[in-house]
Amino acid sequence: MPNTKYIFVTGGVTSSLGKGIIAASLAKLLQSSGFSVTIQKLDPYINVDPGTLNPYEHGECFVTTDGAETDLDLGHYERFLNIPTSQANNVTTGRIYQTVINKERRGDYLGKTVQIIPHITNEIKRRIQILGKTGNFDIVITEIGGTVGDIESLPYVEAVRQLQWDLGKKNAIVVHLTLIPYLAAAKELKTKPTQHSVKELMQSGVSPDILVCRTEHHLNESIKRKLALFCNVTQDAIIESIDAETIYDVPNLMLEEGLDKIVLNRLGLTASKTPKLEAWNHFLKKYKNPKDTIEVGLIGKYVELQDAYKSILESILHAGAQNEVKVKIKSIHSEEIDKKNIEEVFKGLDGVVVAPGFGDRGIEGKIEAVRYVRENNIPFLGICLGMQMAVIEYARNILHLKDANSTEMNLTTPYPVIDLMEDQKNVTEKGGTMRLGAWDCKIDKDSNVYKAYGKEMISERHRHRYEYNNEFLKQLTEAGLKPTGVNPETGLVEIIEIPTHPWFVGVQYHPEYSSTVLNPHPLFVAFIKASLDNKG
Ligand code: GLN
Repeated sequence: MPNTKYIFVTGGVTSSLGKGIIAASLAKLLQSSGFSVTIQKLDPYINVDPGTLNPYEHGECFVTTDGAETDLDLGHYERFLNIPTSQANNVTTGRIYQTVINKERRGDYLGKTVQIIPHITNEIKRRIQILGKTGNFDIVITEIGGTVGDIESLPYVEAVRQLQWDLGKKNAIVVHLTLIPYLAAAKELKTKPTQHSVKELMQSGVSPDILVCRTEHHLNESIKRKLALFCNVTQDAIIESIDAETIYDVPNLMLEEGLDKIVLNRLGLTASKTPKLEAWNHFLKKYKNPKDTIEVGLIGKYVELQDAYKSILESILHAGAQNEVKVKIKSIHSEEIDKKNIEEVFKGLDGVVVAPGFGDRGIEGKIEAVRYVRENNIPFLGICLGMQMAVIEYARNILHLKDANSTEMNLTTPYPVIDLMEDQKNVTEKGGTMRLGAWDCKIDKDSNVYKAYGKEMISERHRHRYEYNNEFLKQLTEAGLKPTGVNPETGLVEIIEIPTHPWFVGVQYHPEYSSTVLNPHPLFVAFIKASLDNKG
């Protein structure tokens, strides 16, 4: 008998319905009911991972502690569940095919024709079950990216059909997320698109156990009855998912709708406790009852797309709640900042974050932003490229090293204060080859970061190729840019601060990847606190 139970979350009608949030909310409720749960995302595109994708295409690239570059939904999973994900939690079609093709070349299928069914579908099934087998989870929730009916989703739906057959329907259920549009002219909610998307699933041999219906208006009994009848589910399995004020309300909304109960019922499981969400609701209470408001500038080059800086925005939100302050974010395009307009653009900002990034577009604006906050004592958090820009700014404007730069931006700079890491020098392939995942850092006790973390040894996630060039360490330190965090093995400078500034911190790593609702990241909490003090 299999021990792990599987829940598949599929989507119908349109994309962007928030499958990730529904999956994470359901997982939260099941976790609070006493089960160990993880969530996996299957992405139907052919890239092996999203690491090489432009954020405009796919939003932020999330990074796990074990160094996987993943879909941003994994960030939601971690923020909701408060447990880390890993390489196995995100699988793409590219990865599936790569594995199968490598096996074919090795001769594992000698004599056989390699086909979508069974070879690709078997590999999908294997990837789904890895988490259940190795992670000791009671429940694995697998979110299937895309919308049913897409050509590229077909092998995944077929794998789900087979798994239900292999494991039995009590051990593998399907939750289908769909949209119930409201026609304003007719003043009516419409069920037809949902009927069609369920029909589409059924044509592939999969029949949903539960429908979660995204809607702007409440579903009445007659709509629910109609949906149940035509989509072949019982009426108690029609779950309304009304638009929420914040994504963090969704677990409570799903609890009220009884999504967890119907899921456990279908899986034949009994919860050891009733989900209470006490700590979660404590966070929500603080988030919804701020005592003050501050404004923080986020300087980046993908600011038009909210999803490009998802984890940073959520980390600021968590830290705001922790400080009981509402944080308004002013997204500022780094290409639009210059010496002439900066005063105007930064007016009223209580703190500034300079975002990560790649390539030279917009970097002069980022450097200008750093100069401004340094000279005006505005709290500053520079993340990855943001930290590198702070080093360049200091070299140029304090050490007067004209044209100091990163060799990423200018290969022939006379002062390469940021340079390619030694072990990157022979790297030719772009995919998955950066310095990735969690690395240790030792913190100087006399620093703002030590005050924030309250400990000397930390481990944080990375995603970069370039680093602080230690050839300039002495010069920069003597001029007042203090390295307050260093990798104990390599000596790589991970954190810089200006001790004479109220709160000026640049970090080579990405704190935003590990902030969760129940554990807001200490650096963001300290940064928001400093911004609040600055306002005061
Ligand atoms: N482009 C820089 C590097 O590769 C910074 C990367 C980042 O901000 N994630 O080192």
